[in-house]
Amino acid sequence: MDFSLPPDVDETRLNIRAFVDDHIIPVENDRSNYDVHENIREDVLAGLRDKARSQNLWALSMPKQRGGGGFGAVGMAACYEEMNRSIFGPMVFNAAAPDDGNMVVLNKVASEAQKDKWLQPIIDGKVRSSIVMTEPAPGAGSDPAGMMQTTAEKKGDKWVIHGRKWFITGAEGAGHFLLLARTSTEPRRELTTFMFHKDQPGWRILRRIPIMGPEEHGGHCEMEFDGLEIPDEDRLLDVGRGMKVVQTRLGTARLTHCMRWLGMAKRALEISGDYVAERDAFGSKLRDRESVQLLQGDAAMNIMIGRLLVMQAAWKLDQGEFAKSEVSAAKIHVADTLFQAIDTSIQLCGAKGYSKDTLLEWMYRYARQAKLVDGASEVHKMILARAFQDQGIDFWSWG
Ligand SMILES: Cc1cc2nc3c(=O)[nH]c(=O)nc-3n(C[C@H](O)[C@H](O)[C@H](O)COP(=O)(O)OP(=O)(O)OC[C@H]3O[C@@H](n4cnc5c(N)ncnc54)[C@H](O)[C@@H]3O)c2cc1C
Repeated sequence: MDFSLPPDVDETRLNIRAFVDDHIIPVENDRSNYDVHENIREDVLAGLRDKARSQNLWALSMPKQRGGGGFGAVGMAACYEEMNRSIFGPMVFNAAAPDDGNMVVLNKVASEAQKDKWLQPIIDGKVRSSIVMTEPAPGAGSDPAGMMQTTAEKKGDKWVIHGRKWFITGAEGAGHFLLLARTSTEPRRELTTFMFHKDQPGWRILRRIPIMGPEEHGGHCEMEFDGLEIPDEDRLLDVGRGMKVVQTRLGTARLTHCMRWLGMAKRALEISGDYVAERDAFGSKLRDRESVQLLQGDAAMNIMIGRLLVMQAAWKLDQGEFAKSEVSAAKIHVADTLFQAIDTSIQLCGAKGYSKDTLLEWMYRYARQAKLVDGASEVHKMILARAFQDQGIDFWSWG
């Protein structure tokens, strides 16, 4: 079995590493480059994005003819991990959620005309996008198809939307939206996906929900739909195929989260590794203490396991499979690993780890969402259990 990366992927990965070192980490080290939501200031980001694009380190998941890198999931796994060595990296390379997941699904299932209209501006960095699915209780959450309350009703050649959504990442700054709404009660055909532009009337942002962690640009918003009209031509796939869109989007999007989180986990260990290499206590460097090495070794091992799970799932996605079990296993494990690596690093850095003198507290607050977004860990365990119950011992087949 050959675990080496294709040469072009490895070359891009190393270019990203150098870019992050030379251009992004210096920006990240200066808190005056942060906005009020603890993200990179838009003006600073714009300059870095121009630079990344000029070096062909841009929208790697998109086809070359549309201005992207033409990478499959394996290539993305190697490169996204490098990007998120900086907390600002994915935004700089146009590889951040939710744009990245939205680009991937539009590229896979939209018509060419829809791609020109809805996808190309996201690839070009001219607009940002949101995925609009989750609703406050009793609406869609872990069980979107069963619980969705937002409706799309066909009137002539338009669909009219009514309902409420929340936790919509980036909604305040997005131009393009992918919306899931109920079009039927027929089992497995309940939902349909639509695209709309921010300037279309009939919807509004009710609030930007205050959260525990630092915020993505555009926040996490609660939205109300009160008669938004969407032309039928802006429907994605057939009526009733909304869950197909969700599965297509989330398969890759969940895995790209994992790719990025592994990069962040590695950076956390890098920060604490530097600290324990320099810090003395009780007559030796902290790094020479066995109990410190146990913490470092355990976190490092979990990152290794996470990378293998991610690469196996990425490879299966590149073969055209959904890789549902592999993606779920990676999502559960990497979410835990991210949290462990950061928590361990805070512990190893002592009081400094709890301060804003390092990035660790930023990462710690951010990381808690990993066990919730794009499916709570318990839901992914349920998916694994169902697959095992169906397949028996073949659940572990290599094919
Ligand atoms: C930071 C952040 C960003 C997000 N961005 C977006 C976005 O851009 N667009 C969007 O549409 N949504 C977004 N979400 C919403 C996210 O996808 C949902 O929170 C997630 O799907 C869980 O839904 P819920 O919050 O309604 O939890 P619920 O469905 O209410 O579940 C609550 C808890 O119950 C448990 N649970 C649920 N089902 C099971 C089960 N079958 N077995 C055992 N336990 C179970 C889990 O522990 C779960 O955490 C975001 C959420 C966060 C926190």
